[in-house]
Amino acid sequence: MSAQPHQLADVPEAFRPFVPDHGKSPWHPSVKATKRVLNPLPAPTVHECGTPVEIAHHQQVYGRDYSEWPWMYRCAACDASVGMHPFTNIPLGTLADKALRDIRKACKQPFQVLWEHGRMTRTEAYAGLAAHLGIEVEACHFGWFDAATCIRARDWAVATLRNGGTR
Ligand SMILES: [Zn+2]
Repeated sequence: MSAQPHQLADVPEAFRPFVPDHGKSPWHPSVKATKRVLNPLPAPTVHECGTPVEIAHHQQVYGRDYSEWPWMYRCAACDASVGMHPFTNIPLGTLADKALRDIRKACKQPFQVLWEHGRMTRTEAYAGLAAHLGIEVEACHFGWFDAATCIRARDWAVATLRNGGTR
C-alpha cells in the first residue's frame, strides 16, 4: 500500500520519494515509537555554528540507506549530523561532526569494556559514570556528550578498569 496522500501533503516535496509505503516519516512519526523514548531530546533547530539544522535522508547524503530509519538532523555547513530514534523525529543525541563522532566512538570503547566483560552490569556502569560526571543517569549517553565530557568519561572508565572495577 502506498503512503496516504494526506500524509505526504505535510512532507516537503523533495522528501516525498523517500517516504516508505507505511507512510511514516519525521513529519508523521509513529505515536507508539515516540512514546517509547523515555528521555526525548528536543529537535535541534540551529547548530552551534549558527546554521539552521535541516532534516536529511541517507539517500541524499550517502546515496544509500544505512538503517531502517534513514533520517537525520544535519548541519550541511559542518557536515554535522545525528540520527533519529526509529520511526520518530526524536534525535538520538546532539549533532556531531566527524571529529566529535570519532571522539565519542573512541571514548566509549573502554566504557563498554567495563560492562561487556562482566566487571559490572551495564546499569552499574552508567550509574557510576553519571555520578562521576555529576549528571543524571538519564542524560548519561555518549551521543549527548561534547568532546570534553567524552574525555572525562574515557578517563573514568580507564581508571575504573585499572582498579579492577567497582566490585
Ligand atoms: Zn554547523
